[in-house]
Amino acid sequence: MKGSIRCYGNFPCKHCKTKFKILPTKTGSWLPAEWVNGKPPEDEEFDSAKHISHLKNCKPRAEDWDKIKWIIRKKEQAHIFGDDLTR
Ligand SMILES: [Zn+2]
Repeated sequence: MKGSIRCYGNFPCKHCKTKFKILPTKTGSWLPAEWVNGKPPEDEEFDSAKHISHLKNCKPRAEDWDKIKWIIRKKEQAHIFGDDLTR
């Protein structure tokens, strides 16, 4: 199932420790959706009507997000999925 490949799990932000789940977007990119009420979003695609992008609330994360996306892309190409994407 493709969905499992494109689900990048949950991570605390290395800058501010806010938890988020990396979700693919409709445009083929990725965004960090913040947890709500201590729970990760259950969706497998980012929906701006439903999710809060952590990039809006965290300047250092917004600044290094291109790097994270690059790492995700590399890992997707290699089919490697670990829990160290944001470190
Ligand atoms: Zn942050």
